Amino acid sequence: MIKNILVLFALNLFLFGHAQILKKEIPDKLLVLTFDDAPASQYSVVAPLLKEYGFGATFFVCEFPPNYKDSTLYMNWRQIKALDKMGFEVANHTHTHANVSKLSQSQFNAELEYIENKCDSLGITPPQNFAYPGYGLNADVLKFLEEKSYRFARAGGSRAYDPLTDHPFLIPSWATNAGNKSEINAAMGEAKNGKITVLTLHGVPDVEHPWVNTPRKLFKEYLQYLSDHDFKVVSLRDLLAYIDTEEAMKTIVPNLTMPLKN
Ligand SMILES: [Zn+2]
Repeated sequence: MIKNILVLFALNLFLFGHAQILKKEIPDKLLVLTFDDAPASQYSVVAPLLKEYGFGATFFVCEFPPNYKDSTLYMNWRQIKALDKMGFEVANHTHTHANVSKLSQSQFNAELEYIENKCDSLGITPPQNFAYPGYGLNADVLKFLEEKSYRFARAGGSRAYDPLTDHPFLIPSWATNAGNKSEINAAMGEAKNGKITVLTLHGVPDVEHPWVNTPRKLFKEYLQYLSDHDFKVVSLRDLLAYIDTEEAMKTIVPNLTMPLKN
């Protein structure tokens, strides 16, 4: 008996030297919903629908130039605070939707700290997670994020997230638009065998950026499909229950040659 346990332990070490990255097994049908850029429809359309379905989500907010003050186009901070109060995650997408691959460390920190300070002054849960505006990133930015103790950073790449091989600052995702329903349905099917599907959405609808528009009807279809098929739909920070990001950062070498843009 003891011998069997020892053999199993040794086998486990051999096969899963990285096993401690996972705090618990990744279930099939685990899906992360993320919403970028703070368009007004995320408050008026998305949040109420998510509540109806009991789904979690992450909202990567910024003050999108030049029209962020126009409340017909973008959420205001009162509405962003309401998302936090509703239990959704508010996370960092920089102050000005900056291409962070072109910034110095001090410029990068200023972009992040504007959002952090805004959250602090309004009593919003401190942001721990980041999404790269326009999928701009490089090796320096990964170091900057680590120094600021961020946990996850979401990129693109149109492939599933494997917590044992993808660095926590290079989380891949698929982006929805009005015309890629079959691609997104296939993406949902990839949430199995230890992999997690992460979706990037923008406005529902998106008035300012029609190329990333998701019509309300299509969004509702996705939510209904996820509900009918018993998906667990969560925010990015909910993955901390499954993934030890410190361990992952120690053991996984960031691979910047993988597809990282949508
Ligand atoms: Zn964005």
